[in-house]
Amino acid sequence: MSNPDYCTWKMNRVSKIFHPTDSLLQKTRNVLGSKNQSLLVDYGLMKPLDKGTFYYLPILQRSINKTSALIKRFMHKIDAQEISIPNLTPVELWTQSGRFDVYGSELFTLKDRHEKPLLLGPTFEESITHMMTLGQNIGEKQLPFRLYQIGNKFRDENARYGLLRSKEFIMKDLYTFDVDIESATRTYEEVNDIYRKLFTFLGVPYEKVEADATDMGGHLSHEYHYLASIGEQSLQTCSSCGETSIDSTETTDDVSECPKCKSKELQKNRGIEVGHAFLLGDTYTKKQKANFLKAGKPVPMQMGCYGIGVTRLIGAAIEKLATESHIRWPFPIAPFSVCIIPPEKRSKAFSSASHYLEEVHDRLNTVPGLQDSILVDDRIRVPIGDRFRNARRLGIPLVVIIGKKASDTENPQFELHFIQEEKECNLSLNDLINEVTKYSQEKHKEN
Ligand SMILES: [Zn+2]
Repeated sequence: MSNPDYCTWKMNRVSKIFHPTDSLLQKTRNVLGSKNQSLLVDYGLMKPLDKGTFYYLPILQRSINKTSALIKRFMHKIDAQEISIPNLTPVELWTQSGRFDVYGSELFTLKDRHEKPLLLGPTFEESITHMMTLGQNIGEKQLPFRLYQIGNKFRDENARYGLLRSKEFIMKDLYTFDVDIESATRTYEEVNDIYRKLFTFLGVPYEKVEADATDMGGHLSHEYHYLASIGEQSLQTCSSCGETSIDSTETTDDVSECPKCKSKELQKNRGIEVGHAFLLGDTYTKKQKANFLKAGKPVPMQMGCYGIGVTRLIGAAIEKLATESHIRWPFPIAPFSVCIIPPEKRSKAFSSASHYLEEVHDRLNTVPGLQDSILVDDRIRVPIGDRFRNARRLGIPLVVIIGKKASDTENPQFELHFIQEEKECNLSLNDLINEVTKYSQEKHKEN
């Protein structure tokens, strides 16, 4: 009970949030090689358990929850229904599809008490296709079905770069089922369109590139990338038409040229894949007999699968936006939108302006899009400057300081800082609320 003044109503308080910072600040940074890992670990947003697995701590978990909620909202716009598929997958399903050997050592395998071989799902095409065969026959009129889940996936890979490639990660996977390839293609376009809206909404520049679909036995595939120097995919952007495509020259002897306009003036880039889309056709449904009834006859459904790496998206956004010492988030998925810093205990403003805190907090908390997204740095024994530095390090997009100018009885003013824009202004309380409302509206605009 160090700050009894601020304990009487519900608010998110810095003093109470579990975020163990690293005593080895700076030291780990260069060794780890990625900003997302070093910043998130140093500032106590995540901690490693083992190579490639992390504890997600409260501040990061808030961003994960916001990202998941956002993805769900966009999935529901295309009538996708949420389900959960067990992670424990019978190996049998994967030997039948032939992917057990293809994935090989990337799979985590185990056995149950009856020696039955199981694997921890890295992806769920086999499982969902199996699920579609259970119960009544699906009628032609019931299709399309769009089913998705957000959950943990497992891949035994060479883990590196923090959230970008870990052995256990969170991913959204959507599977769609249609009556024929034409309607499956329309579904494909619809999902890609909602991906465009989602990625645009997040506000981080991205590239959509055509990918090779034959690996998965499919017809059509696109990947969504954030460009970053530590990305694993090499890409090329055409100087004359602007098209970005996968650079295949690293693996083949092809001469680089733009697939669209055939120009040879290409700029090489690296991309972090944050989403993908696959039109699979009947590759799985035919083999596993996932049929619907067409005029009484069973016909394999036409399938698509669509992923977004939730934790990877967050890590990639940080790679894109952060500085060497400051985390930066896309506004809609920032763990907190605003940090309020009340007066320091030993300052004059403490007695004359501290009473504004509750009002500032409660009014900001009613701004559309900001509910429960307000953080109060209630460590009143810490100088305002230090608390401000901390808020900037955590990348909280807006900071409100209740300082000396708030003591003015005639015209109390509050400092509003736009962290990413590196702008600040002094405003009356009403103007402050208006400015933050405007900013939040702008950042939450959908197109
Ligand atoms: Zn071109």
